[in-house]
Amino acid sequence: MGWIELRIADGVEALELTVNLMGRETTIYPTLFWDEESVILVDAGFPGLEQQIREAIEMAGVSFDRLNKVIITHQDVDHVGSLPEILAKSQRKVEVLAHEVEKPYIQGDKPLIKADAAKRSKLFETLPEEQRKRLQAVFSNPPKAKIDRTIEDGEELPYCGGIIVIYTPGHTPGHICLYHKPSKTLVTGDALTANEGRLSGPNPSATYDMDEANKSVKKLAQYDIENVICYHGGVFKEDVQKRILQLTI
Ligand SMILES: [Zn+2]
Repeated sequence: MGWIELRIADGVEALELTVNLMGRETTIYPTLFWDEESVILVDAGFPGLEQQIREAIEMAGVSFDRLNKVIITHQDVDHVGSLPEILAKSQRKVEVLAHEVEKPYIQGDKPLIKADAAKRSKLFETLPEEQRKRLQAVFSNPPKAKIDRTIEDGEELPYCGGIIVIYTPGHTPGHICLYHKPSKTLVTGDALTANEGRLSGPNPSATYDMDEANKSVKKLAQYDIENVICYHGGVFKEDVQKRILQLTI
């Protein structure tokens, strides 16, 4: 994806991070919101990406030292991963926000909801031993961070022109999406994915509760959406409202 696609509006950009994950390249898209007062990162990548995230923020024309909030859509390791390092390296106090239900998992007070499922999965069994050990280590000692503030369904965060929290359980029990009012942008987290370049519903193999996840897609369809940033899939701008409606059927 080029710069033009990643820039959604003034103060809204998808950050593109390509990483080599156990021999396979994968790209993730955290979101950056900013204005005069706030610089907000939504989701914090895999572990070990602090430098890459810092560079992506600077490439968007924003000083990393201005970062003052991180919103975590859910507990999965690919979303919390570099948060501890970002907090440790930041010059200023960075406030971390997440839904109440996700808080104990992100803080490490409860084991990650998918830790057991991942260890039992077929894919896991087929991995070479060294990779299996590395994964096991991540799950038994996942990246964690203190949540400073919990946010709830329908709450409008008074930052960057207004960001509405949409509680969308399913992928995990406390998953949230965000809706940026001025640019009509939906940040999906993992509530929506992409399949062969097409905006798609939640990925069943990675979803904790598929019924709930489908209900959450219906909830998203109620918003007036012009842009979508999909953590695993990137930016979608064409006919997104129509496409989300199709996904609810
Ligand atoms: Zn994910």
